[in-house]
Amino acid sequence: IIRSTSTNKKSIGEFFSQHLSFPFLQYKDHLHVARAERQYIYDTAGKRYLDFFAGIVTVGVGHCHPKLIDAATKQMNKYWHLSTYYLQDTVRDYAEKLLEHFKDDTGLSVCLFVNSGSEANDLALHLAKEYTKQTEVISLRNSYHGVLQSTLCLTNIAGFKRPYLTGSRVAMNPDPYRGIWGGRHCRDSPVQTTRSCNCEKDQCQASDKYIEQLDELLSHEVSKKKVAGMWIESIQGYGGSVQFPKTYVKRATELVQQNGGLYIADEVQTGFGRTGTHFWGYQAHGAKPDIVVMAKSIANGFPFAAIVTRPEIAKTIGNYFNTYGGNPIGCAVASAVLDVIKEEKLQENTLKVGTHILQRLAKLRDQLPDVVGDVRGKGLLIGMEMVTDKESRKPFPIAKMNAILDRCRENGLLLGKGGNSGNVFRIKPPMCITMEDANFAMDVLEDAIRKEL
Ligand code: PMP
Repeated sequence: IIRSTSTNKKSIGEFFSQHLSFPFLQYKDHLHVARAERQYIYDTAGKRYLDFFAGIVTVGVGHCHPKLIDAATKQMNKYWHLSTYYLQDTVRDYAEKLLEHFKDDTGLSVCLFVNSGSEANDLALHLAKEYTKQTEVISLRNSYHGVLQSTLCLTNIAGFKRPYLTGSRVAMNPDPYRGIWGGRHCRDSPVQTTRSCNCEKDQCQASDKYIEQLDELLSHEVSKKKVAGMWIESIQGYGGSVQFPKTYVKRATELVQQNGGLYIADEVQTGFGRTGTHFWGYQAHGAKPDIVVMAKSIANGFPFAAIVTRPEIAKTIGNYFNTYGGNPIGCAVASAVLDVIKEEKLQENTLKVGTHILQRLAKLRDQLPDVVGDVRGKGLLIGMEMVTDKESRKPFPIAKMNAILDRCRENGLLLGKGGNSGNVFRIKPPMCITMEDANFAMDVLEDAIRKEL
């Protein structure tokens, strides 16, 4: 039987909907991209957009950075791929450079390279189970750790089906805005609320409650000493830039570690300076991971990912073979990413511009308290949660969220949305944006919101 393959007469929009599975096509009138450069994307009609989503934090140093193109081209002219059978300078140089960022007291000194964040978390899962000889794993509600069958057991957010596998437990999410014990005033954000609270300097009462819950989960459901590990995003990304009350991450992970489990810090969104104050998100929590998972901005969108761990943990699975993991082109690009972050002081810029954006959003929150429920985040990992009114905090309708996104797009700004109910604007631009970009984006967003009220 010869089937017709005449797909070429369809519009690209029709083709995508009939022959591809891309669930997140965002706009009423789909955006058809032609090219991108630094913080801008251009559509096929030549219109320029300021990119405030950056391929979901992936494009850290900006689109098509010439240093990255140069690094990739040089490597491609030398050789593309040799597998891991031979010694290669590009791979060694990158691993050495990456480990420079682990000169803290965590003892993390072995890199394992893979191709995506999901694969990195899957490898971390394998290591945690092998090292501890335990099977139970814990992650937080509202978390995202990937879409492999294994990592879907760690992902707990609407729209992602849990597979039929056992051994994964879900802990209460210490969400200071939606959670029952609050904690907004104890978040590590330049726009934390000033409502007075009774917490001591290093002690948060909301955090105490969530830790009690985790302890109960460990004692009764998991049964202490059976835990292989706990996964935490240093700030929840897909879940809507949710930050935790102070001390939670440190105390939760220490509790797990005291019970023989590992702490796996998922830095896929929070790593590489994205939060402004620290290179890795876990550093702000004062916590000590056993495994750090990284992807996305590690190579600015080139498919590449890694975990870094301690030698005794890495050893438990013997030699790790992965055809494209640690490929030299990825290593060359990732190495250039580290150089550019340093040379262009992108972490510092992230802190400065991100804080400015947060302050502008907080002003809007104060002016429109019945619509803008919460503003949170750090650096350029920002969330603005929209509600129907400040008492009920019911999620803002999706149709209105989409209308605001469409309006922003018309005016040259691309944003993301997320959270369990899709009611959080996610602001994650490339780290090279300027104050002018920030002001332009905030003007456009504010105007779009006011028009949709
Ligand atoms: N962890 C986190 C925190 C993520 O945000 C993502 C991707 N959204 C992943 C893991 C999975 O990464 P990937 O899509 O590369 O598999």
